[in-house]
Amino acid sequence: MELSGGCVCGGTRYVLRSIPFSLGDCHCIDCRRSAGAPYVTWGSVAREDVRMTKGEPRKIAHANRIRSFAACCGTHLFFEETKDSEIIDVTIASLDDPAPFAPQKAIWLEDRLPWVTIDKAVPLFQKSSKKSRHVKNNSPLIFLFSGLLAFVGPLSCGHAASEQKGSYGTRVKYRLGEKIEFPDFTI
Ligand SMILES: [Zn+2]
Ligand SMILES: [Zn+2]
Repeated sequence: MELSGGCVCGGTRYVLRSIPFSLGDCHCIDCRRSAGAPYVTWGSVAREDVRMTKGEPRKIAHANRIRSFAACCGTHLFFEETKDSEIIDVTIASLDDPAPFAPQKAIWLEDRLPWVTIDKAVPLFQKSSKKSRHVKNNSPLIFLFSGLLAFVGPLSCGHAASEQKGSYGTRVKYRLGEKIEFPDFTI
């Protein structure tokens, strides 16, 4: 089984040798800006199942994570937690046939643009699906409670670069080393 994909100009191509799992839309600011799109749909694949067949991606370190773009034309292709992490996230829309891989969750909804419509049939997360509580956005009270829990918890989160402390800072205009005070706790 192989799934093929690549960049917009055709200069960078890859194949996946397994089906992407953990499919989800990420609304975080870093994904948004990296792709120039309101959100990015990701799928995870074991590192050994990703093989370049043409060209080489350009890797950009940002907020302690690595994002890969086609060196030829800039299409956002991959996301890695570290350079040797076992899992690589792939932009589902860069697959030649993304149609079978509908998102099964939405994460980082706290960064969602107000005009993006959310599919309430899938699990929704204010932050990462790994650390934050799963919330349905039809309950404002639970949403608030979840938000508070996420705030007091550790700021390392999950998938996206902005799920890390440094990039969390980009969301609140926080500079490294700067102290941010909230009413009940301090970061
Ligand atoms: Zn290209
Ligand atoms: Zn993201």
